Amino acid sequence: MAIDEAKLTDREKELANQFTATKDLLRKVDKQVAMVMDLNKCVGCQLCSMACKTLWTNVEGREYMWWNKVNTMPGKGSPKDWERMGGGYKVLFGGKVRDPLRGKLPTKKEFGDMWKYNWDEVANSKAGTVHLQAKNEDGTIPDWGMNWDEDQGGGEYPNAFYFYLPRICNHCAYPACLDDCPRNAIIKREEDGAVVIDQDRCKGYRFCLEACPYKVIYFNFIKRVSQKCIFCYPRLEQGVPNACARQCTGRVRFVGLRDDPKSLIYKLVKVWKVALPLHPEYGTEPNVFYVPPLAPPRLDAKGNPDPSKPRIPAQYLRFLFGPEVDSALETLSKEMEKVRQGGKSELMEILVAREWKKMFEPFITDPATLERKSA
Ligand code: SF4
Ligand code: SF4
Repeated sequence: MAIDEAKLTDREKELANQFTATKDLLRKVDKQVAMVMDLNKCVGCQLCSMACKTLWTNVEGREYMWWNKVNTMPGKGSPKDWERMGGGYKVLFGGKVRDPLRGKLPTKKEFGDMWKYNWDEVANSKAGTVHLQAKNEDGTIPDWGMNWDEDQGGGEYPNAFYFYLPRICNHCAYPACLDDCPRNAIIKREEDGAVVIDQDRCKGYRFCLEACPYKVIYFNFIKRVSQKCIFCYPRLEQGVPNACARQCTGRVRFVGLRDDPKSLIYKLVKVWKVALPLHPEYGTEPNVFYVPPLAPPRLDAKGNPDPSKPRIPAQYLRFLFGPEVDSALETLSKEMEKVRQGGKSELMEILVAREWKKMFEPFITDPATLERKSA
């Protein structure tokens, strides 16, 4: 809700100004790291999720967390139906005013809980065959998971479709989570713009979980603090790219500095304009961008392709990536056709990503080299 300034006392106005100034300071950055994910190349293998799990969330209280997850679209995602949970801002007057929208607090079960399996029973039962069964932490049978609607998708045969949407924290320019934290525990790191939660300052109020419209913050029920993707900043500090990006099977992910004209991120976002934020209407200005998925044309009643009708409904892609998606898809199609006709395209050359180092400039140190040095 917007505050009615006319009803504030002078003291309240002074405090409100101090609060705004503090939040402006916590948001201030020298440089901003960013990621672009090319959805045309994601195969849903979840290797990125496993890289992140092994590195960051394989410890007490974090077992149910997926700081990186890959959802099947169209689907309900995780937490279940996160796109209906609210949060973010209503952006007014061309971005001069951001009116916070309080959202819903996702539950652990909506995130997909932490499944346990009856491995011991299956391996050692003397009472006949025991089938493998997942159970939630409280012993109930799971009815949701990180990618529960895997490969379900939308549409009707023969025009069914689906694609994968890898998700991490967007390290937004206007992080709703930061604005809503009464403890000022959430900051953007000045040196790279990663949004992080100070674990000593956090008191576990969970307003950030309600405020984040992407619902990518988790509550650690053992440590009683909020936790989330840290954009692998300890790796970036050593010149090493994020684990999810370095381990990606499909060379889907580009990492770099958003405002450096030499970076491929800049070229994809600002020059070619084919990489777009997810749900830009949430008003947080994400620093994770997506190259939207192209799909084969729809088949008509006789089974012939109709190139005038896309398999993935344009309306659905506009819902996800905003109106800019139309021109992004047009550019992608044109450049792809140019190459098919034997021509050259800088854009296609970037997206094919022949050399991994070019995808991550300036974070091109091989972690294997670092390990050898420190051994
Ligand atoms: S995606 Fe959510 S948690 Fe991440 S910075 Fe944006 S508002 Fe905060
Ligand atoms: S590792 Fe790459 S290809 Fe595999 S799911 Fe993650 S983003 Fe997609």
